Amino acid sequence: MEHFSKEKTLVMVKPDGIQRTLVGEIIKRYERVGLKLVGLKMIAPSKEKIEEHYTLDPEWRRITGEKTIESYKKKGLQPPSENPLEITAIILENLKKYMTSGPVIAMVWQGAHAVKISRKIVGGTEPFTSDVGTIRGDFVLDSYQMSDADGRAVRNLIHASGSVEEAEKEIKHWFEESEIISYRLVQEQMLYDVNIDGIFE
Ligand code: GDP
Ligand code: MG
Repeated sequence: MEHFSKEKTLVMVKPDGIQRTLVGEIIKRYERVGLKLVGLKMIAPSKEKIEEHYTLDPEWRRITGEKTIESYKKKGLQPPSENPLEITAIILENLKKYMTSGPVIAMVWQGAHAVKISRKIVGGTEPFTSDVGTIRGDFVLDSYQMSDADGRAVRNLIHASGSVEEAEKEIKHWFEESEIISYRLVQEQMLYDVNIDGIFE
């Protein structure tokens, strides 16, 4: 098995994150937890590239549609359709508009539990309900109520892969192998080495 420290995840700063000048703040939060930046670029993606990104998992349309219907019902609201695929078609159209409205930044972060730590830092999908202390909870106030009323995607600043499997597919989707840099970060000795030695002179 690969060492824990080799796990990688894909993080994207969405167009609103760049327009809100939060790139530095977002990078800082990843750096300070101990993850290592191994790939980074700014992109003006096409709608096709965005659609592919969201549908890398062939089940994404069904799962997201079902999840959305359930969340409407939990709030006592009538979903716009009972068909999960119809719901996701609307979400995907809105996501394509949103994600192509300006440049985005794609990053690969590496380190122990990179995927789960990254989701913890990002917070829940809907900023209105994401925890204080998370990127979405701290820097934006959007809600499904507001985005649905205006027929647009919820503006939640950032994307982070949901699982190790998703991360592997998403990293391949946005990066060539040669664009991921393998290097040593001095602080990794403190994070991962079994023995801490060589400090006292
Ligand atoms: P994430 O991984 O936290 O970004 O969330 P998902 O992968 O589940 O969903 C991807 C995107 O689909 C989100 O960023 C939202 O734009 C949209 N989305 C997901 N669930 C819902 C929902 O219940 N309602 C609405 N309006 N949009 C949703
Ligand atoms: Mg997701």
